Amino acid sequence: MIRVVVSGAAGRMGETVCAAVDGAEDLELAGRADPALDAPLAGLVGIADVVVDFTTPEAAPTNVRSCLEAGAHAVVGTTGFDLEELRATAEAARGDGAAANVLVAPNFAIGAVLMMRFAAEAARRLPECEIVELHHEGKLDAPSGTAKRTAELVREAGGNVHEPIHSVRLPGLVAHQEVLLGGQGQTLSIRHDSLDRSSFMPGVLLAARRVGELEQPFTVGLEALL
Ligand code: NAP
Repeated sequence: MIRVVVSGAAGRMGETVCAAVDGAEDLELAGRADPALDAPLAGLVGIADVVVDFTTPEAAPTNVRSCLEAGAHAVVGTTGFDLEELRATAEAARGDGAAANVLVAPNFAIGAVLMMRFAAEAARRLPECEIVELHHEGKLDAPSGTAKRTAELVREAGGNVHEPIHSVRLPGLVAHQEVLLGGQGQTLSIRHDSLDRSSFMPGVLLAARRVGELEQPFTVGLEALL
C-alpha cells in the first residue's frame, strides 16, 4: 500500500482527490492536510510515502520543501508558482542526498495532455497561434498553468503564440482551453473541456502510484508517465 497524504484536502480538488485515493485498493489515504481542518502538512508529511498537493501558489513550494526534507515524494497539481525555482530546490536536495521525487503537472486530464501535444504538432505547419483558457471564477492564477505549458510546447515546436493568452473566468465553468491556429484561408481549433473534476483523477492516481519510479528528482507534465 502506498500511503498518500492530501494537501489542500478541504479544497475543490483536494476533496475529490481524497475520495479517489480512498476508493483505490492499492493506495491508503493516510492524512488530510488543510488549514480548514486544523491539520498542517508538517504534522502529517512524516507518515506519507506520497503527498498530493492541490493548494495555492503561495503554499505549494513550501509544502514541496517539507516533502523533500521528510523523504516523501510530491505530486503537485497546484499552478501559478515559479517552476524553475522549485526545480532548482529539488535538484539541490537530491545533491544533498534527498531520495524524494517531485512531479508537477499543470493538468492531470489525459484529454488536456493530448490537446497540448496536438497543438504542438499542428504548430509545425500552422505556426500562428492564439490560446483561450476558460475556468471557474474561483481560480486564483491567470493565465492557467495549462495555457503557459501549452505556449511553451508550441514555441518549442516553432509556433508563434500571440500575447496575451486570453483568460475567461465565469461561474459554471470547470477547466477548458481552446488553441486556435491560423493559416492561409483556414483555421484549426483544438479544444479540451474538463466538465467535472473527476476528469483529473485517473492522472492523479497514476502519478501517486508512479512518482517514486521517476529517474529525475523534478519532472514537469503527466506525459512523463504515459
Ligand atoms: P481551492 O478550492 O481554493 O483549494 C485549495 C485548498 O488548499 C484550500 O482548502 C486551502 O485552504 C488549502 N490550503 C491553503 N494553504 C495550504 C497549506 N499551506 N497546506 C495545506 N492546504 C492549504 O482550490 P482548487 O480549485 O482545489 O485548486 C487548487 C489548485 O489546483 C489551484 O492551483 C488550481 O489551479 C490547481 N488545479 C490543478 C489541476 C491539474 O490538473 N493540475 C486541476 C484543477 C485545479 P484555505 O481556503 O483555508 O486557504
